[in-house]
Amino acid sequence: MGGWALGISGAIVAVAAVAWATRGLLRCLSVLRQIERGLSSLGQGRPIRPTRTRAPGPVGRLARTFDAVAPELQERIGRLSRDVEQLRVVLGGMAEGVIAIDSRRRLLFANTSADQLFGLGPQAVGRLLPELIRSPQIQEAVDATLAGPETYRGEIVLPSREIIPRQMSRVLAVHGALLPGPTPAGAVLVFHDVTELRRLERMRQDFVANVSHELKTPLASIKAYTETLLDWALHDENVNVRFLNRIEEQADRLNQLILDLLSLARLESGHEVFQHGPLAVSAVVETCIETHRGRAEAKELDLRLDLGPVGESTLIVADEEAVHQILDNLIDNAIKYTPERGWISVACRLTDDAVELDVADSGIGIPRDDLPRVFERFYRVDKARSREMGGTGLGLSIVKHLIQSIGGQITVESRVGEGTRFTVQLPRYKPG
Ligand code: ADP
Repeated sequence: MGGWALGISGAIVAVAAVAWATRGLLRCLSVLRQIERGLSSLGQGRPIRPTRTRAPGPVGRLARTFDAVAPELQERIGRLSRDVEQLRVVLGGMAEGVIAIDSRRRLLFANTSADQLFGLGPQAVGRLLPELIRSPQIQEAVDATLAGPETYRGEIVLPSREIIPRQMSRVLAVHGALLPGPTPAGAVLVFHDVTELRRLERMRQDFVANVSHELKTPLASIKAYTETLLDWALHDENVNVRFLNRIEEQADRLNQLILDLLSLARLESGHEVFQHGPLAVSAVVETCIETHRGRAEAKELDLRLDLGPVGESTLIVADEEAVHQILDNLIDNAIKYTPERGWISVACRLTDDAVELDVADSGIGIPRDDLPRVFERFYRVDKARSREMGGTGLGLSIVKHLIQSIGGQITVESRVGEGTRFTVQLPRYKPG
């Protein structure tokens, strides 16, 4: 009987011990679950609820440590995510394309500009760069960057077929640097589109070369005639006046060139001050026609004016001197490039918003391929002919700038051997 009772009490003690141990274990588990929930909140940027447990033992200590460091941890993670977001916004707003790759050339990041430049698309992260951008030159830049340790600097010309979507070819300045890490963790490459910059540089170089050439030609003539006069021709009445006339012509040409260059420079820099205001256009057109009548008659050209619906009260918004210069240049060209006994017509039309002026001629015309370029500085279909006529190759670019400053438009149509028509639209004055 005594042994039986002992057995029962032993079993009760054992059950109580197991129950006590189980309760402790469940408490530990609950604390651990609270910590796990806290960590997952931390990961998702949600506020953490402290465990506030007083449980004893290692789990209790872990929970209290967690409670102590959690606010600091939360603050740091918050700051880190804000920094990452800021960085993303800054990189996203950059005009330069930025891509980051790992050491195996997998794309880690590409900003919006890089996306647009290379047409990367939303699924690009994680894919191999050579699959995304099929450009041997970019791969060379990547190789050179990954070979390190110096930063890579280079300039590449991407043909249009290597750019998606296919636009015109682009010139890119590339900067590549290794991403820091024990072994290079990858590289970051920055692509700066310098296409426009290089185009402007080329234009500037061409311009300087053109100006030097244009100045040198008349100067060389003046020098040659002067030397000949000094050598032997000064007192030879058969040639001396002719040579002096040539010198005067070339000096006039130089003068015209310098005036045109100054005028163009002022227009391009925006320093030309115009007084655009209400202007009776018919009076200006009539004055211009009369200025050129003598030259037209000398070539037996029929110079006609048709004012059409444009009367004395038709007003445009423009500076009088600017409109003079536009018409002078166009009529002067028409006279220059129309053979004798041809015709030149200046005709006016009205639209709701503009006065349209046609300056047409029955001259030599402009080949189709040259038409889009005639407004460029120094562009001439036939250089020798233009020079012979006293042209500088700057007239139409001055015209274009003047019209732009007025807020108008100019277009040209032409057929070789039949004639040319320039149409100018100038904004009408609308009172009130
Ligand atoms: P230029 O001083 O040589 O006349 P412009 O800038 O005025 O320079 O004109 C540029 C070129 O456009 C000319 O060299 C000429 O080849 C062509 N061009 C301009 N107007 C006419 C026209 N009415 N008929 C034929 N060609 C023209």
